[in-house]
Amino acid sequence: MSPQRIVFDEPIVRAETEKLKFPRICPVCGDPAEDIMPLTVIPNQYKSLRPSMDYVPSFYGRGQNNPIIPVKKTLYIPVCEYHHYTDEGAGQYRSYCIVFDGLALVYLILALLTFGNQFWSAGRLSPWLLLGVGVFGTFLAITFVLFRPGPVEAAVKIIGFDGGLHHIWLQFRESRYRDEFMKENAMTAELVKWIQRA
Ligand SMILES: [Zn+2]
Repeated sequence: MSPQRIVFDEPIVRAETEKLKFPRICPVCGDPAEDIMPLTVIPNQYKSLRPSMDYVPSFYGRGQNNPIIPVKKTLYIPVCEYHHYTDEGAGQYRSYCIVFDGLALVYLILALLTFGNQFWSAGRLSPWLLLGVGVFGTFLAITFVLFRPGPVEAAVKIIGFDGGLHHIWLQFRESRYRDEFMKENAMTAELVKWIQRA
């Protein structure tokens, strides 16, 4: 499989994961930060990235240097009071939501199977079928809202990690914030214009 190359209009940042230092301003609005927001990411859900410069064939370095990849990683991002929130509750709602989505879908399918024939023969919609569509639609909408990234997640987007989790690729929505970030991490971060997915 050939590597997929992604080019960014605005440069993104490649930084050392361990030495990561976020500026003391809010990534969303730029106000002075008063709170810290943990952003937990599960690196395994990202494919490892490789910057253009040190391209190595994909079989190299796999397993040898970094046999253990942590299951998750928490970034601590200073934010202003207004944009501070925790998503501890949301995680729970999300799992309920998936269950209800499934139930609503099952109901919808059953309703289709049961009343679908009637619809085609009689040419009118069964109220049960309409109810199924309505319920399923409602749950989809709720799911969309619950899974929508928060303002901080939207302002600090994690593009990916390298295999050993030594580097992280971040995309900042505000260029001012990116400048500040580069100042804070002058020794360990660099701007990149494009990445290559393995
Ligand atoms: Zn803010």
